[in-house]
This record gives sequence, structure tokens and C-alpha cells, in this order.
Amino acid sequence: MIKRKDAIVLRSFDYRNSSKIIHILTQDSKRISLVAKGARRTNSQFGGDIEPLNLSQVVYYIKPDRDIGILKEATMIEPYLSLKNDLYRLNIGWGFACVGEKIPDPQDGLFGLEKRSLTFLDRGFKEEVFVYFLLSLFHLSGVSPKLNSCVCCGSRDVEFFNIRKGGAQCANCMGKDSFPFGDLQELMNDLRKGRLRVWEEINESKKGKILQITFKYGVYHLGDWLNRLRDILPFDIIPNER
Ligand SMILES: [Zn+2]
Repeated sequence: MIKRKDAIVLRSFDYRNSSKIIHILTQDSKRISLVAKGARRTNSQFGGDIEPLNLSQVVYYIKPDRDIGILKEATMIEPYLSLKNDLYRLNIGWGFACVGEKIPDPQDGLFGLEKRSLTFLDRGFKEEVFVYFLLSLFHLSGVSPKLNSCVCCGSRDVEFFNIRKGGAQCANCMGKDSFPFGDLQELMNDLRKGRLRVWEEINESKKGKILQITFKYGVYHLGDWLNRLRDILPFDIIPNER
């Protein structure tokens, strides 16, 4: 059955003498592997259309009993050239691709999130897109941290955060593994909603804390596989521990 879908190319690698295998995330958030026959020949019809971190339209077929399909056509829709010309932002983009590759069950909406995040990166945003990406991923995965009220009693007077409990806490409910949250709550709320401009007004220490909380929360609630990002991202996510 031949299918035509928009997809983000997550990764590509050489296959046999002249071909490539690409891993893509399709518009319905399915992760698929495809053989692009002859893709390494200079006159290949695929050209740059199947470069990693491209948004492309792909035409492919997969036999019902196979887990790898054949790419028939590819047309680039958006190459995100600005982010690819900046190694720092490119490496954040690789982080998003890695999540697309490694997340155990890609949720509905992951394609849209990857696409929005690559667009933000392409416009020049950096670490703030990573925070936005993770907070949105928690939402898709059903493990969003509770930011506006205490996870234990519902009080609006939150001063602490507890990763294990899943969000903010009031002074009465905080435990020994809770830590001060302060005004990070509002900043994280803004970032979650895609208001990335707030990042410019935050000092470096708060930026570090937000990155750290968000990432640690992700490892605890999504799994250890997220730790792979530490070797890919161009910044220390957990500055105090390295
Ligand atoms: Zn409470």
C-alpha cells in the first residue's frame, strides 16, 4: 500500500553500496524506517530531500509483514537552513530528533511538537525551545507537572517543587526531597505556553535551574533513555552535577 505523508527526517545512515536508510516521524506521529535506494549516487532523485532534520513529503510503501519500507519519492518542504548553519542550535535540533528516535511510544502530537520546535530553533531561539519541547512532551505523555497549585493539597501558595510528586508544593506539604521553586513557576508556565521571549529577561542562574528541573523531571517521569540528550545538547543540562 503506497502512502504519501509529511514527515520529519530524524536520522539517516548508509546502507549497502549506494543506498541509505532513513528514520522518519510521519505527520500522524508514527516512526518508520525506509530504504532510499541509490540515495548515495550523485544523480540520485532524492538529493538533499532526505537530509536529517528536514520536513519533507515522502511517498513510500511497506509490506504488511515488514518493519522497513521502500521510499519512492521525497520532496523537501522545509530544510530549516538557519538552524543548520549554527552548530549550537543544530545540536539542540539533534536532541529533538533523538527524542523522536528513542521515545518508547511516540504519542499523537509528537510530529506537531517536533515541527513547532524546529521552527522556533530556526527563528533563533535556543535553550528556551528545549524547555518548551520537554514541557510539551510531558503534556503529550500525560505526565505534565502541576505548576499552579500544590500537588498534595491544592493550595495556590506554592513555594517548592517536588519531582517525584509531580509538581509544585506549598510549605506545609514539602518534604526532604522538595526544593525552593520561587518565581520559576510563572516562568515555566510561560515557556510551556510557547511564550519564549520571557527567557531573555531571566538571569543565568534561573535559566540553569529551569533547565535542570525540567530535565530531571523528564528522566524521572519519561525514563532513563532521556539521559542520552546529555551527550547531544550543546549546554550542560545539569550544571551543578558535572
Ligand atoms: Zn500543600
